[in-house]
Amino acid sequence: MSQGTKRLLLINPANTYRKGYLLRRESKQAPLGLGMVAALTPPDWQVKIWDENFREFRFREADLVGITAVTASVNRAYEIAAVYRGKGIPVILGGIHASYLPDEALQYVDSVVIGEAEGVWEQVIRDFESDNLKPCYQAPLCEMKHVPAARHDLFHPGYLFASIQTSRGCPMDCDFCSVPAFNGNKYRLRDVENVLDEIESVPHPMLYFVDDNIIGYNKKAEEHAVALFEGMIRRGLKKDWFAQASLNIAEKPEILKLAARSGCRMLLIGIEAENETALESTNKKLNLRMGVDSYKAAYRTLHKQGINVLGAFIYGMESDTVEAIRNRTNYILKSSVDVTQASVMTPLPGTKLYRRMKDEGRILCTDFPQDWQHFHFTDVVFQPGGMTPKELAEAVDEAYGRIASMGEIRRRFLRTWWNTKSLRSAVWAWNSNLNYRSIAKEKKVNYMYNDKQ
Ligand code: SF4
Repeated sequence: MSQGTKRLLLINPANTYRKGYLLRRESKQAPLGLGMVAALTPPDWQVKIWDENFREFRFREADLVGITAVTASVNRAYEIAAVYRGKGIPVILGGIHASYLPDEALQYVDSVVIGEAEGVWEQVIRDFESDNLKPCYQAPLCEMKHVPAARHDLFHPGYLFASIQTSRGCPMDCDFCSVPAFNGNKYRLRDVENVLDEIESVPHPMLYFVDDNIIGYNKKAEEHAVALFEGMIRRGLKKDWFAQASLNIAEKPEILKLAARSGCRMLLIGIEAENETALESTNKKLNLRMGVDSYKAAYRTLHKQGINVLGAFIYGMESDTVEAIRNRTNYILKSSVDVTQASVMTPLPGTKLYRRMKDEGRILCTDFPQDWQHFHFTDVVFQPGGMTPKELAEAVDEAYGRIASMGEIRRRFLRTWWNTKSLRSAVWAWNSNLNYRSIAKEKKVNYMYNDKQ
């Protein structure tokens, strides 16, 4: 290993097959995990981040390379890893995909970090420095006091939003979600003052809280959220922000009020479906507890505070037919949801859905790793329960045509403005709808073949 300052290159690969979400600057999200790893790297290392969200990868000298990847970008990660390994430079892969399929990853990289990298990163660096890099590092769920503020200074300056994490984990158990297995089913909360310091350190006027649920499901998590919002108001941070939450946030109007005062403009809520049969098939317990009839009042409660509803919906649930998909789209258009994220059901490794689909032989593309590029929520990669893959793909294309038309986006802008009484929130809804339009319009929904069609 070379003497002197060592160079760590951290790489954020992008899916090269579908770039829809990267077409607009407003929808790009900084690779926060790489920023945290950079923060834990000893100061005698020079650290750089190469981010394909902005610039296609070109070889750059390094002593050690660290790559993160989700399932849809892992094939690209393997391509980049091959370039470095060809030159004898070791490559470490982390992130959610490699954590669930480390044996696959080890065919393409030198070392895999399984789980939350913060818990083992210092060990990885020590091992590399003593020429003793191990093939596998199993990271425990780390204590949040060990989660550092990310090195935001290393992120590309083109990001409009600063990404900030305040908590990890989720006690729910949705069939299609890989979060509880990766981050655990208990909330772990960062120290609020540290989070506030991190927010204060970033120049961005807009924030994205990347937590899976900004207020959580228990008293402690709620108190944490309240302390965060009060802290933002007390320190006069004046940031506009959005975050993910669950429907139960509508049961806490006082917290919503504080959220709005601290700058909340939009909340992504996992609605998933407008009928209970579909919700049952995905084990969406919270929505079932609250009941689909509660949705309308929940949207109204958010609007009352001037906050947009970004409704996340899924097409291709087990009970879905072509007609059920049309009904879901009709619901979306008639409801007062301001922004729609409509995804094709995708069995990601690490989820119950993936295991079930695999056991039942229903995963249609199996030429891995290349086929992982289709696991990005806008292709049909599995045999649906109530229709053919082609029917599902065509039904989703039809839905996208309706939801993402410019006429619909204009109509929603006016409706959001009316409902929230906030032009600023309406502009947020407008921009977010254009982001989702860029995904829908970039390419038709593709579907994979097998002999069941
Ligand atoms: S979808 Fe949301 S609520 Fe469900 S398990 Fe995942 S993070 Fe938790």
